[in-house]
Amino acid sequence: MVRSSGLLLATVGVVGTLWCVGLHFVAVLPHFVGHRPLESLAGLCHLAFSVFLAHGGFYNYFKCMYTPPGSPSLSEAKEKQLESLLFNRRSAGLKDIKHNAWCRKCEKPKPKRAHHCSICKKCILGMDHHCPWVWTCVGQNNQKYFFLFLLYAWMGSFYGLVMMSYPFMELFIYKPWEINASRESIFFSWIVILFGNCAVAAMVIFQGYIISKGKTTLEFYQSRRLAKKGAVAEQEYFNEYDHGLRKNWEIFFERKGSRCMGSLLM
Ligand SMILES: [Zn+2]
Ligand SMILES: [Zn+2]
Repeated sequence: MVRSSGLLLATVGVVGTLWCVGLHFVAVLPHFVGHRPLESLAGLCHLAFSVFLAHGGFYNYFKCMYTPPGSPSLSEAKEKQLESLLFNRRSAGLKDIKHNAWCRKCEKPKPKRAHHCSICKKCILGMDHHCPWVWTCVGQNNQKYFFLFLLYAWMGSFYGLVMMSYPFMELFIYKPWEINASRESIFFSWIVILFGNCAVAAMVIFQGYIISKGKTTLEFYQSRRLAKKGAVAEQEYFNEYDHGLRKNWEIFFERKGSRCMGSLLM
């Protein structure tokens, strides 16, 4: 049920975005730069920028959707070895065994930073959250695409909003309607893009913040709970995965030492 509602949200998101992108190319762009954009420098720049943003957004969206987020993949022998080690230690009453080293649902050892997703019904490495909009978990292997998708979606919706503001304003002045789309579609699309842009901006800021701090969304909320407890006990919460701003971003993109922006964009 939850999984099928995720498919519905993903479909609504893709169809709604395709509608707005189509409106931009068919009606807004020609209204702004003329029906032959290739004949002027401004038209060419707008067309190239629009294609760049649309391609980057859809590419990273589907890449995030179809890249497995990552699941523990221990060999059978290693799994059995860990299983018996945990069992022996637990039987001996040793207190250093954290309950999260073992997934009770999968009945398998659970590596550090992995969490069990009740929707995907498996443990996810470096789980950030389960995202219904991409119909999958965002984890260690696809979070990069998720962040880049958000970034493109934010830039694209901002650019689209500015461009559509011209026909939107023409709705309120007396002038012959010369745009290749109905007044209603321009009005509702502009409102939808405005709300979408604000929501995506908030997500970009939040993701940017937790990546800078070397955390996932789940760890962010976990650390807040721990910090609260720590505040009571006058102890400071310590994040062992925080290696400093620059290193955290390098680890996130797995592009150590890379200075090429192109390698970050896709
Ligand atoms: Zn599990
Ligand atoms: Zn999931």
